[in-house]
Amino acid sequence: TLSDRLTSVLQNLRGRGRLSEADVDATAREIRIALLEADVALPVVRTFIAAVKERAKGAEVSGALNPAQQVVKIVNEELVKILGGETRRLNLAKNPPSVIMLAGLQGSGKTTLAGKLARWLTTQGHTPLLVACDLQRPNAVNQLQVVGERAGVPTYAPEPGNGVGDPVDVARRSIDEAKRAQHDIVIIDTAGRLGVDEEMMRQAANIREATQPDEVLFVVDAMIGQDAVNTAEAFRDGVGFTGVVLTKLDGDARGGAALSVREVTGQPILFASNGEKLEDFDAFHPDRMASRILGMGDVLTLIEQAEQVFDKDQAEAAAAKIGTGELTLEDFLEQMLAVRKMGPIANLLGMLPGAGQMKDQLAQVDDKHLDRLQAIIRGMTPAERSDPKIINASRRARIARGSGVAIREVNDLVNRFYEARKMMQQMAGRFGFPGAARGGS
Ligand code: GDP
Ligand code: MG
Repeated sequence: TLSDRLTSVLQNLRGRGRLSEADVDATAREIRIALLEADVALPVVRTFIAAVKERAKGAEVSGALNPAQQVVKIVNEELVKILGGETRRLNLAKNPPSVIMLAGLQGSGKTTLAGKLARWLTTQGHTPLLVACDLQRPNAVNQLQVVGERAGVPTYAPEPGNGVGDPVDVARRSIDEAKRAQHDIVIIDTAGRLGVDEEMMRQAANIREATQPDEVLFVVDAMIGQDAVNTAEAFRDGVGFTGVVLTKLDGDARGGAALSVREVTGQPILFASNGEKLEDFDAFHPDRMASRILGMGDVLTLIEQAEQVFDKDQAEAAAAKIGTGELTLEDFLEQMLAVRKMGPIANLLGMLPGAGQMKDQLAQVDDKHLDRLQAIIRGMTPAERSDPKIINASRRARIARGSGVAIREVNDLVNRFYEARKMMQQMAGRFGFPGAARGGS
């Protein structure tokens, strides 16, 4: 209804003051659920929420956002910060070849990533060499060779028929091969197990020791969820790593693993893999991941738009008028336009959690309705807009004709405007707007 819409405008007008503890607590509860649903590990959720609460308490309420939006904004900023702020670039050696070693559980996507990384580096002018150090599974070497061919990059592997080679040996020799054949980067694919096991860890640690990589990338499946913390800790302690790659982001995982791994190990997330094809690969973007984890991407968009559109001076002027009961149809129109600048009303409401299902109905009803309201107000003279009392029967007929609506609709608008003004005055009193009966400035 119209008054609902006014209420939401009013919430935006609420301005001034600080976030109350109740505002923060209520919103923090929602955020906590969102994080747990995104599979962020519980201890990480606890630490994170505590940090956010600390920052949110006593934070200024901006003119553009209501308290809940304000808290969501803070949460998002903290998430982006923890996930790494700006994207970190790959560390490469001053004297080639640079060594990049991949480590992670079996099936996490190491071999696929080796191909993606190789192809991506090729497009940047590098000449990578893939190195097959997964000699555990019968098919692993061949899998890397196939991936390498697709990426147009050669693969270094133990000679077939020589029995099972020693992965540490292969890794060491691959660096000589890279120097000889002038590859400036070596990408070492290693063996994984379904679960963390000591032998695998030792082997990976030995490869690391032997090749002194410039980067050891811990490859972790985003679908791993709650297990991310244990796995990351095991790899941190057993092998050590300098960066993280998150894979399988094309699945429906919300990506809580990103926050867990980042929180627990403090190592940056460098890349994101999102598909089986070589091109399904990108630098990691903390802001995108934050909104994915929060699952409130639409709310965040709304917040951004509200902040852009909301003109503080205009809001204060309107607030003052509301308080003294001087609000005119002109102000009303302005507020309506300000809200609509943010996009179709249906989109705005659709962005709010839970309102998604109503979107279709809203798309039909509300924008058309608002169009008509706008047309009616535009059909009035300035005098009529600033003092609706003068709108008598003949003026109503003229306005209706001019804006192509029924007289009934003009009556409706004027009556609702009076109601709304009365309601706003009452609310203004409660919220302590400047100029309001209670308090004021
Ligand atoms: P590894 O055991 O760590 O070497 O993992 P693989 O590279 O062999 O990948 C295991 C499976 O996951 C394969 O079927 C890959 O095609 C698939 N895979 C790897 N990365 C992704 C990804 O980003 N998205 C999807 N959907 N599948 C992936
Ligand atoms: Mg593999």
